[in-house]
Amino acid sequence: SYHFSATPIMSGDKVTGVALIIFDFTEMEKAEEVRREFTANVSHELRTPLQTIAGSAELLSNGMVAEKDVPQFSQKIYKEAKRLITLVEDIIKLSHLDEESSDIISEKVDLYDVSKMTVTNLTPVAEKAGVELAVKGEPSIITGKSQLLTSIVFNLCDNAIKYNRPGGRVEVEVKNCVDCVKLSVSDTGIGIPLDQQSRIFERFYRVDKSRSKEVGGTGLGLSIVKHAAKLHNAEIELRSVVGKGTTIILTFPK
Ligand code: ADP
Repeated sequence: SYHFSATPIMSGDKVTGVALIIFDFTEMEKAEEVRREFTANVSHELRTPLQTIAGSAELLSNGMVAEKDVPQFSQKIYKEAKRLITLVEDIIKLSHLDEESSDIISEKVDLYDVSKMTVTNLTPVAEKAGVELAVKGEPSIITGKSQLLTSIVFNLCDNAIKYNRPGGRVEVEVKNCVDCVKLSVSDTGIGIPLDQQSRIFERFYRVDKSRSKEVGGTGLGLSIVKHAAKLHNAEIELRSVVGKGTTIILTFPK
């Protein structure tokens, strides 16, 4: 919205003009709206698993659960509690990123090293999902923050595994170009419909809520990627075909 303030310009006792000051609050209001929406989403996302945990724990402690169903209830509590931990960690990561300035982008980091390490850490997760996870590339030094770069590679690979199919494949590639380094993460997964591709980087946005919940997603992974990429002045490109797979390419300046 706009606010106006008008002051008459006097020459002696004659009004010769009006000074008009226009205050543009649009950007501030937009930021406020995003904050409000985020808080509402956080409350909802925290409440749902907490209610499941409280409900199941209450039934268990009242002896209302048949002996044979006890493991199922305990597992539900465990799964939801784990999801809450990931969610809280992601929220904290995002709020730190919000405060970070590009001053922290000052280490010499080999993105290939970061990728190899992350792939090694995620190998058990890929194996469990029946997905083959591979990394190839060459030493590729950029100016960055290694902890944030790890978050980027981790979140992209984690998604590529989660939204894949058994027997599918994930390939991470790091290569140098003239003035840049390209990181690409490709999968043979479910793909993202064209009309939703621009939205998946929004906080809490998920294409398929139920699938995302089942695979343990928080809806914050790609927002973290987007923020961390922005701090590195990296560009993000998304190519995806439903039923075929997705490739996300980040281009970092050297
Ligand atoms: P989540 O924690 O739900 O995975 P993200 O922010 O990482 O949240 O991703 C947002 C949504 O984008 C996901 O819920 C999923 O629907 C979609 N998505 C992300 N990566 C992929 C991918 N590689 N293949 C298919 N869909 C994806």
